[in-house]
Amino acid sequence: MGDFLSQTSTIEWTDTTWNPVVGCTKVSAGCKHCYAERMAKRLSHVAEAAEKRGGSAGRTHHYLKVINNRGRWNGKVGLVDEAVEDPYRWKSPRMVFVNSMSDLFHEDVPLDFIQRVFRSMNDNPQHTFQILTKRPHLAAQFASQLNWTPNIWMGTSVENALVRHRIADLRKINAHIRFLSLEPLLGPLPRLNLRGIHWAIVGGESGPGARPMDPTWVRQLRDRCRNNNIAFFFKQWGGVNKKSTGRELDGELWDQMPFSFLGESGGTTTLRA
Ligand code: SF4
Repeated sequence: MGDFLSQTSTIEWTDTTWNPVVGCTKVSAGCKHCYAERMAKRLSHVAEAAEKRGGSAGRTHHYLKVINNRGRWNGKVGLVDEAVEDPYRWKSPRMVFVNSMSDLFHEDVPLDFIQRVFRSMNDNPQHTFQILTKRPHLAAQFASQLNWTPNIWMGTSVENALVRHRIADLRKINAHIRFLSLEPLLGPLPRLNLRGIHWAIVGGESGPGARPMDPTWVRQLRDRCRNNNIAFFFKQWGGVNKKSTGRELDGELWDQMPFSFLGESGGTTTLRA
């Protein structure tokens, strides 16, 4: 059985996912159709089946502890001790999305565990780590007790104007790259303040019950990024069948990444198209 907690990712803007924490609690509209929750439900079934057969569920057994019998998050988080040192074992340098199955800055993840996860990232500068949180106020609160080596990128999700305040918290963190995940984009963000931000990812919701995204919202964000010299990545239109809607915007693919991805240093951000 594959290891579902650290694996090659199909997410367009990263290579690998790494999950030292699993489980979460919903905090805002963007969480409604949480992909991690759906995936955790499936993985808890995988674990259950393995255990019924008398075999080992491997790391998937952690999902049994965070999903309730209706297939929803039960509010608990699981600390996956055995995953913390994975980065030391990866041979080739890679782009790593930290905690696709949780939020590293969830209220119940203790600071000393977060510090262990950071140590693992600090000790492995050959890899680039992207942390994305919907709780940047907690990340900002802990920031001075964490070592922000340049290989750690810190981002927050902003799905509509109600959670724009997350950007102010993100700005307080002295990460080499600060980024926004504007996904699933659920409303217009025409005058978004992008000061101190290096990269923006935009995407529509996909899967059952996907909420629509107006193309005008996407163009406004692309133009705002362009005018502010901020890397812009358009991930997908989304919808019930995301393959059919694709990821072209006005006839182009927008795969820009922050300059430092190429190993350059310095505070300014230029683009890699
Ligand atoms: S914060 Fe992320 S992982 Fe947690 S419930 Fe919301 S969408 Fe899911």
